[in-house]
Amino acid sequence: MLSVLLLLSALVPGLSLAAGQAESATGALDMRGIERVKLDPWLELLEDTGGRLRFEDVSKPGQAQAFHALGERAPNFGFSDSAWWVRFRLANPSQRPLSVVIRQDYPLIDHVDFWSRDESGLWQRVTTGDRLPFDSRPINNRTFLFPVELPAGSESTFYLRFESAGPVNIGLFAHDTTNLFDLITHEYLAMGIYYGGFIVLLVYNLIMFLTVRERAFLEYLLYVLSYGLYMSVHNGLSFQYLWPGNAWLANQSLLLLLALSLLGCIRFTRTILTTESLAPLADRIARLLEVSMVLAFALTPFVEYRTLIVPMSFATALICLHMLLMGVLALWRGSRPARYYMVAFTALLSGVLAYMLKTFGLLPHNVYTQNAFQIGSLIEMVLLSLAVGSRIGELRDRGYLDALTQLHNRRYFNDQVAKEFYRARRRKRPLSLLVLDIDHFKQFNDRFGHARGDQALKAVAQVLATSVRKPNMPCRYGGEEFVVILPNTSESQVQVVAERIRREVEASTAETFKLSVSIGHATKAPGVFGNPQDLFIAADFALYTAKDGGRNRVVGYRDCESKREGDATSAPLRTFEAPAGSGR
Ligand code: GH3
Ligand code: MG
Ligand code: MG
Repeated sequence: MLSVLLLLSALVPGLSLAAGQAESATGALDMRGIERVKLDPWLELLEDTGGRLRFEDVSKPGQAQAFHALGERAPNFGFSDSAWWVRFRLANPSQRPLSVVIRQDYPLIDHVDFWSRDESGLWQRVTTGDRLPFDSRPINNRTFLFPVELPAGSESTFYLRFESAGPVNIGLFAHDTTNLFDLITHEYLAMGIYYGGFIVLLVYNLIMFLTVRERAFLEYLLYVLSYGLYMSVHNGLSFQYLWPGNAWLANQSLLLLLALSLLGCIRFTRTILTTESLAPLADRIARLLEVSMVLAFALTPFVEYRTLIVPMSFATALICLHMLLMGVLALWRGSRPARYYMVAFTALLSGVLAYMLKTFGLLPHNVYTQNAFQIGSLIEMVLLSLAVGSRIGELRDRGYLDALTQLHNRRYFNDQVAKEFYRARRRKRPLSLLVLDIDHFKQFNDRFGHARGDQALKAVAQVLATSVRKPNMPCRYGGEEFVVILPNTSESQVQVVAERIRREVEASTAETFKLSVSIGHATKAPGVFGNPQDLFIAADFALYTAKDGGRNRVVGYRDCESKREGDATSAPLRTFEAPAGSGR
């Protein structure tokens, strides 16, 4: 989204607002007492359409008329085959020499040449640009900085030449050195925070991927990594720090990373919104867009930057709109991650909006509005990370639910009973377990058929769901057996709950299925039962005793403990992980 605007602003010449300094153009700018100034009103311009003029041609006195004042126009020329010559004059009428730094703030210019006169009056040329190794710059900075000395009582003329395959955005400033220090310090702190955020997200999601092995994390990583790098190429940081010797990468990386981040964005969106099932048609379109980005990525090294940039910016806009559409569709069809996804999009759009409003003077110009783009995109990334988390939660919940009864399933029970057991032991609180089995359910099935048997199971599950409240957890253990975990519940309390459930099942199915259940329960008190398995075995044993005693009844483990001890060898104890529905 952000990239669209960056690209659009590159495509539309003069989009940024021209500086409205009051002083008249093309005179010499008096630098006394000036901390920082945008040079637009003092610039004179010469378009060299063939790009063949030499410095001697433009600097000789007869050429002077060919330069013309910039006027109200912003010096952003979009894509241009011309070379652009710029001239301005700085004056220092004071008694002391002044140190000034000229800054070109848009870092993605292929060739920048700067001419100034040294003390002996000879022209000195600095040749740099992002087609040359980074150390061609006089000062190690992401932008182009040219330090100059203004001798006391002097007036100096400076020339620059710009030539670029990308947009020619001329953003020239003059700073005194103190002001430049301030600017650079704040700028690099802000960028450190911004990219620091990206790095935290990358590390966090990498760890998540390594532990959970969920594809969405990997796709998110691709998106965040390529998007973060794309932004760093845009503001010149990656050339400064990541590949200062590689001018080819400095120029090609922009499109390579744009294609990669869009690819990551589409893949990631499709996965977390599960559009393949929620919005199949939109998903097929997204797949086509994916293919087009793979093609763009593969073509980039062989095709001119200028040929690709226009179709790429249209593709970017198209993809952003399509992602938004998929988000809306998924939200409409009840996807939980889609909520985070849409909030993330909104955060980014708000950032873009704030930046626009600032640009048009409707919001104050401050650190927040100036960096609203970046802030918005960072918030977007954080929220998208939450969307992945929510997707994982959804997957896990699905794996924890019983399809027929919509109660939690045995896997959930196993995970949960262990968690609750050790929590109870730590806190020295009681924990009760209740095992419930429908009486003579095989006969019921045989008489009324499996379909009606399923209905009966749902009816019992319904009783459990309504008569058991959080934090107590009813689960379907398997077949016609259910379990309830009752944290912080004593033996006498679980006896009451179990009896209520037994009566409730009998009463609510009296008209329809005429079911009864047998219930066994056991309670973990301090010092009793060493592990969750033993607790389960005890409750199951109590259930067996209830069946033995004539069914449709509740038995606590303690009531049958003595019996068990006298009869230990014949008691058909099941193990914790015994398959469901084993006969008894
Ligand atoms: P008891 O009172 O001793 O528990 O007798 P029972 O018939 O209920 O016990 P048994 O374990 O022998 O039979 C359980 C039956 O539950 C076997 C099977 O037909 C039925 N059953 C298990 N799972 C399902 C299910 O998902 N749907 C249906 N309709 N029946 C099931
Ligand atoms: Mg049964
Ligand atoms: Mg059974």
